[in-house]
Amino acid sequence: MSTAKLTIDLSAIAANWRALADIAQVETAAVVKADAYGLDAARVGQHLAQAGARHFFVAVAEEGVALRRALGAGPSISVFSGHMAGDAGAIAGANLVPMINSVDQMLRHVEALPAHPFGIQLDTGMNRLGMEPAEWSALRDLALAQNPTLIMSHLACADMPDHPMNAAQRAQFEDMTNGIDVPRSLSATGGTLLGAEYHYDMVRPGVGLYGGLPFSDAQSVVTLDIPVIQTREVSAGETVGYANAWTASAPSRIATISAGYADGLIRAMGGKAQLFCGGVAVPVIGRVSMDLITADVSHLPDIPDSLQLLGPHQSVDDLAEHAGTIGYEILTSLGARYDRAWRT
Ligand SMILES: *Cc1c(COP(=O)(O)O)cnc(C)c1O
Repeated sequence: MSTAKLTIDLSAIAANWRALADIAQVETAAVVKADAYGLDAARVGQHLAQAGARHFFVAVAEEGVALRRALGAGPSISVFSGHMAGDAGAIAGANLVPMINSVDQMLRHVEALPAHPFGIQLDTGMNRLGMEPAEWSALRDLALAQNPTLIMSHLACADMPDHPMNAAQRAQFEDMTNGIDVPRSLSATGGTLLGAEYHYDMVRPGVGLYGGLPFSDAQSVVTLDIPVIQTREVSAGETVGYANAWTASAPSRIATISAGYADGLIRAMGGKAQLFCGGVAVPVIGRVSMDLITADVSHLPDIPDSLQLLGPHQSVDDLAEHAGTIGYEILTSLGARYDRAWRT
């Protein structure tokens, strides 16, 4: 078999959730949008529910319906995109809690599903989702009369602890919510690490659960082992791969492994990322192809059956740096072709 093996450590995800809950000391939800950042929302959700998570967030109602099927009744499932046209059936049927983002969404919600739980999402400066201060002032009394279960906002720069935007958004959040007797939530992974004044009543980590920065103490969650299909000797001056992108400066041994950009291995990492054989680094050389990557294994005494691209020696963020992106994109790009296993 030549498909690469992606192993997802559910115990490490649960340990990361517990570690973030220990830091926050308040209700700690789990963000499982985008299929739990590509790692399978049903399995991740079930494992975190067993570990004690009671609140889950998804991006869109359809994700919430699938997650409800996996989790059964009990845990709350909230939807960041709120209540969109056509969502009432999903929201009611799967008992989802939409985070209402606008006056339009509020009216749609109370009209379609009066008395169905909802939360409020406020914009405190990111200008992406949620009600602006003026909109919130106009709607506030009406919305509060309907008993929202949560008031939340989202930080734009929480992975930069010294950025003045953090304090500015917190002050705006205070302005918009002070004196309101409804649970509040401001922070994802980054905000959870900014300190107690950012925690309010609930934190909503996502990427930290999956081993990504800015949670630098996270346990490693994914390992990706890619089979070696063949090796060859090349002489000094020979080239490897498309566009002759790499030229041997000395006689070398080249391994060809079975994964490429069709598997989410971003092409820009070619010539920069490394593979690992045990603890020994092996440089990726030449271009990343659709299904194949080449590596210079000249210094390995024995050729292993596979080389490791993600794992304890190279995190999703290390790889992201080589590819000019962020760990989030490495995770959510992990390809459909891998042979996946979930370890508990
Ligand atoms: C994605 C998201 C989160 C989780 O963010 P991480 O940085 O992955 O922890 C929390 N809240 C909102 C509104 C989000 O969109």
